[in-house]
Amino acid sequence: MPELRQNPATKEWVIIATERAKRPEELGGKEEAEIEEKVKTCPFCLGNEHMTPGEILAYRTYGTKSDSKGWWIRIIPNKYPALIPKGELRRMKIDGFYRHMQGVGEHEVIIESPKHNLTIATMDDKQVEEIFLAYRERYITLSKDPKFEMILIFKNHGKGAGTSLKHPHSQLIASPITPMHIRHRIQEAMRYFDDNGECVYCVMMKKEKELEERVVLETDNFISFEPYASRSPFETWILPKKHQTSYEEITPEGVKELAYIAKRTLKKIYKGLNNPDFNYVIYSSPCHEKDVEYYHWHIQILPRVAAVAGFELGSGIYINTVIPENAAKYLREIET
Ligand SMILES: [Zn+2]
Ligand SMILES: [Zn+2]
Repeated sequence: MPELRQNPATKEWVIIATERAKRPEELGGKEEAEIEEKVKTCPFCLGNEHMTPGEILAYRTYGTKSDSKGWWIRIIPNKYPALIPKGELRRMKIDGFYRHMQGVGEHEVIIESPKHNLTIATMDDKQVEEIFLAYRERYITLSKDPKFEMILIFKNHGKGAGTSLKHPHSQLIASPITPMHIRHRIQEAMRYFDDNGECVYCVMMKKEKELEERVVLETDNFISFEPYASRSPFETWILPKKHQTSYEEITPEGVKELAYIAKRTLKKIYKGLNNPDFNYVIYSSPCHEKDVEYYHWHIQILPRVAAVAGFELGSGIYINTVIPENAAKYLREIET
C-alpha cells in the first residue's frame, strides 16, 4: 500500500509507492562514461584556458601564470551568468504593482579537475578535498560582501540534472535575495526550535544514528543517510554532527573528513545505480543569519532517476518508488 511521509525539517510530504519500482542498476547508466582524458573542444580541459573568461581563483603549481596550464582546481565566471556582479540593489515597483530588481550577483563555475573523464566518485581523495576547500574559500570571501543574502553551491551531473557539459564541474550562485524555497526551510527550522528548544536537524541526525536503518555512512564528525521522507529514490543527505549553521564554519580538517564521506557516498551511488544523473546542493543559512541555533547546513544529493511531472509540479509532492530503508541497506552493502 502506498504511504505518505513527511520530512520534519522541511514539512514536505512525499508518497512512497513501490509498485512501479525498477531495479537500482536500471536507474542510471543512460549515457556512456567518458573515456578521453582531454577533449579538444571542451572549454574546461587543460590547455583550453583561453576558451573561458579569466579565472577568479585557481589552485595551481607555484609560479605558473593565471589562465595557463598548471592548475588542479580552477574557478571562473559562468560564461552565461544568471546574475552579474554589476548593478544596483534597489527594489523597485513596476506599474505600481510588480516588484523588480537588477540581476546583481555572482555566478561562478568550479572546474573540479583538469581531467575530462573523472567524476567525484572516481577521483582520488586529495582532489575531492581540494574541491570542498575551494567551495569554502569562495563561500568565506563572498559572504563578507554585504550585497549577498544567499550563497548556493550546487552540482549538476548529467543531462537529466541540467547539464550537457561532461567535464566535472560545480557552480556557485551568490544572490541579493533569499528565495522563498530557502526562507521556507529557515522558517520551519525556526518554528521547530521555538516549540522544542532544539535544532530539528540535530534531532533528526540523532534519531537516524539511533535507528541505524537509514544510515549510509558515518565518520567521527559527519553522517550520510537517506531521509525518512526521501523525495526521490536514493536521495541522500550529509550533515556535520556538530551543530553548524553555514558551510563557511567548516574547518580545513573538517573539509578533509567531508571529502572522505562525500566521495564514498557518491561512489556508492555511482556504482550501485550505474552512474545516474544527479544534483547536489549545499544548503547554508542566509548570509545575514550566521551562528543561529535553529538552522544546520547540509548537503542534499538527489539522483535524477524519476521524471518530475504534472503532479509534482502541481502539488510539490514527490513520488518515490524506493523505500528509503531499502535504499540505505543497498548502498551500505556497496564497497568503495
Ligand atoms: Zn573537458
Ligand atoms: Zn543542528
